[in-house]
Amino acid sequence: MIHSIISFQDRPTCASHQNGRTLLTSMAKACPAFICRHPGWVLALGLAVSLTSVAQRASGPEASSSESDTPIPLGVLQAPVAVIAPRAASAQNFALTFDDGPHPVHTPALLDWLKQNRIRATFFVLGQNAERYPDLVKRMVQEGHEVGNHSWSHPNLRVMSPKKMLAEVRRAHDLITRITGRAPVLFRPPYGALSASQRRLIEKEFRYQVVLWTVDTQDWKLRNATQVAAVLESGTRGGSIVLAHDIHDRILPALEQMLPAWRLRHLNPMPLSAP
Ligand SMILES: [Zn+2]
Repeated sequence: MIHSIISFQDRPTCASHQNGRTLLTSMAKACPAFICRHPGWVLALGLAVSLTSVAQRASGPEASSSESDTPIPLGVLQAPVAVIAPRAASAQNFALTFDDGPHPVHTPALLDWLKQNRIRATFFVLGQNAERYPDLVKRMVQEGHEVGNHSWSHPNLRVMSPKKMLAEVRRAHDLITRITGRAPVLFRPPYGALSASQRRLIEKEFRYQVVLWTVDTQDWKLRNATQVAAVLESGTRGGSIVLAHDIHDRILPALEQMLPAWRLRHLNPMPLSAP
């Protein structure tokens, strides 16, 4: 699992990562981290601690060139609000998260399936896609899903100046707020790449909780839904945060394959934060 998490940057097939192709080398050592203070997510936090220690060891000169660029230390994020819903505290609950959408074809199909199975999820949308498909973002909220910010255009924020980085985040933040009528409270940086100082700045400006993941479905890389389902099968447990993308056709059949097994194991997908 650790390997799958720290290798997430290598995703050349992801359409929304097209600008990231040239960034892959410099980003390859970027270290993911996520914080979740709610006791129900202790497992996820524990996994992330393990992940970060490994990622720190794997960090190259780019990632450790200054203190502000060191990986985000886990356990120090002071969440401004308790965004993890009490209902998600159960050890049997986990979060399905979908990045990079909305997509005009795959997102509606996924929303249909989620609705049909009474599953709520978290969508980390890109501002530029939300601008093109605002009705899909509205639909997400109307159907009980959570919408988080994934930046406007999916850049590597880690190499941007504070001003440009904030502009990227704010543009998406303002649009999501306009479309949904509520300000997002969750942020997932593209590629999971964010320095500690950047994270502090984003938290201060937007009162976000930064969320990464514990299970990477690799749906951007694996060509076949059965392979994606196998990753889900072996990786998902109570407290997991599953990273998937609603811009690919593989995730939905993988979820369809997986759902009976999750039900059998009494694992319940939940939004990361929900009323
Ligand atoms: Zn992304």
